[in-house]
This record gives sequence, structure tokens and C-alpha cells, in this order.
Amino acid sequence: MAFHLEIREQVVGLRAPLVASWGVLDRRTLFLVELHGSDGPVGRGEAAPMEAYDGVSDDACRAALRRLAAELEQVDETEPGHVILDRLTGVTPVQQALAAIDLAMWDRGARQAGKAVAPLLASEALDSIAVHKTIGGVTADEAGRIAAEAAAAGFSAFKVKVGLGLEGDVARVAAVREAAGPDARIKVDANGAWSVSEALDALDRLLARPLRVAAVEEPVSGSDAWPHLRAAVNAARFEVELCVDETADREPGVLSRGPDVVEVKLARTGGIGPLLVKAALARLAGVHVALASTFDGPLGIAAAVHAAAALKIERPLGLATLDALDLDDAPELAELAARLQPVNGRIAVPAGPGLL
Ligand SMILES: [Mg+2]
Repeated sequence: MAFHLEIREQVVGLRAPLVASWGVLDRRTLFLVELHGSDGPVGRGEAAPMEAYDGVSDDACRAALRRLAAELEQVDETEPGHVILDRLTGVTPVQQALAAIDLAMWDRGARQAGKAVAPLLASEALDSIAVHKTIGGVTADEAGRIAAEAAAAGFSAFKVKVGLGLEGDVARVAAVREAAGPDARIKVDANGAWSVSEALDALDRLLARPLRVAAVEEPVSGSDAWPHLRAAVNAARFEVELCVDETADREPGVLSRGPDVVEVKLARTGGIGPLLVKAALARLAGVHVALASTFDGPLGIAAAVHAAAALKIERPLGLATLDALDLDDAPELAELAARLQPVNGRIAVPAGPGLL
């Protein structure tokens, strides 16, 4: 009694192109999978590779999913889920594809148990999680308009893309501060665009009144730069949370070299199980954990929301990204996305059964 995996591709446009220091994103492919056993509920998952950002092409993800589908045809479906998932990690190194199967296994298992995923992962999981509004490298006017709209919808935390030229960065953040009000929490994300000295110059401007940025993500790139950045930030007595993102994927050892927070992304981590392990080990290393999406579809966001709820993360997370996707031609996904709509800056953890 083996599994059967159905794979469907959905190309989804972004409502507006996302500009970051690594490039421009205007569309993405979601690989939607359905895991069928001989009986019982169907498990749903998704793979969301983003080549411009994580280097995994749609072709590589497609090929990996096909290999995983072939392997699943050989698997004894009555074996425990972790045995099956372990076996699959030997089939492909493409984490985005492995995550799709991990999600589908959790979705199916939780449906069988008649429960949501979060309470299967932890007792007293949160029932909602705080999220921030992400604003790309747009003009200051546009940033202000987006921030005002988000603030009116209840957001009090914002993440703004920077590293695109300091004057423009400062103007963009100033517009967000102006629109969002003095109490909003603003984080900036440079996607590794700065050197240590550029980061210091930028922080000098961005931390000052009235901008008062609270956190900076991936200010510099590469593990070697982090101890210098940490020492310089301490010497300057800057009060800012330092978050590491892309560098931690390439060089996990960076966690002991200065960051306060590590951003973990479900799609790149291979699914819920590996994400929880990574988060627990990061916390042991004295680093806080945040979760963010790589513009995942609703199933990926739902899985990250369950994981964040189980990890009891209180800080605002980068999971309010579904609004950026144009789902007008994908009514099924639009319906799922609607269930994850943030209300007053929080996403309610889906009550189950399953992921969503
Ligand atoms: Mg980032």
C-alpha cells in the first residue's frame, strides 16, 4: 500500500513587482501537491522555489518532485511519517520539494487525527501570531501609501526593504514612519547589500529620530563580516536588533558570531519538522527565532503559522505576504488565502483539521 502524489503547477503574478537588493520579483510558480493514500484523507502541500532569491529553479523543483513522487509509490504508507520523511531526504537535496511532501504528510496526519497541526506540535500553542507588513524597495510616496493603508488595517509592525541607495532608503523609511505613527515597529532588510561601514552609516541615519528603526535584517552578507558588525554596533552604542537571514542558510555557524535573531524560512528548511529542530538549536545558541515566507502560497504560510504558534514566537513575523500575490485567476488558492487574512496585525492559527 503505497502513496500516490499528484503535482499541479500554478504560476502566480505579484500584484506589484517586489524590488529588493537581490533583484525584482514579479511572478512565481507554486507547485501544489496532493498526497493520496489507499484510503483516508488527502494531504496537501506546496513547494515554492524562488530562483532569484534562493537559487532553486522551477525545473530543479519539478524534477525533484517527480523523483519524490516515484519514491512515494514505493513507500509503505503504514510506516510512521518520520520514517518516510527520512527516506525521502535521501532522494533529493531540494528543500523546497521536500517541504511540499513534509507539509502534505502533516496535513494528512492532522486530518486523520481530526486536529490542527499546531496542537500536534506543542501544548499551549498560540492561537494567533503577530505579523508585519512588508514594503519593498518602492518610492517614498508609494511606501507611505502602503504603510498608511496597512496601518488603517491594523498593522503596527513594518518591514521595509533597504540597501538600494542610502538617500532613497532613508526617504522610504521616513515615509513609513510618518504614515504608521510613532508607536509602529519598523524593521529594515538590506538583503546583505552593505559592507560593515556602510551598515554603520545607514544605521546612524535609520536609528535616529524620527525614523527609530528597531531592527535590521541581513545588513551584511557572509559570516566573516558579522563579528565586525557586532563589535562596531556595540562600540557605537546602537540599540538595534541584528537579524541574520540569507547568511545563516549558507553558513549556519554565523549564529555564534553576533546576530540577535535568525530568520528561518520553511520552504528552504525542508518543512515543519526540520524547521522546529533548527529553531530549537538556534535558541540553544542564544539566538531568537523569527519565521518569514519567500512569498509562499497559502499552504506554506499556514504551515509556518502552525510552526510559529508551536514555537510561541511573540515577535512580528514576515508571514503577511499573501496579499502580494494576485490570486484572481486561482480561486481555490484565493479561498485558502482568505482564511489567513491578518486582522489587526495578527493571523489566526487555522483551527483545523489539517493545515488549513
Ligand atoms: Mg530577509
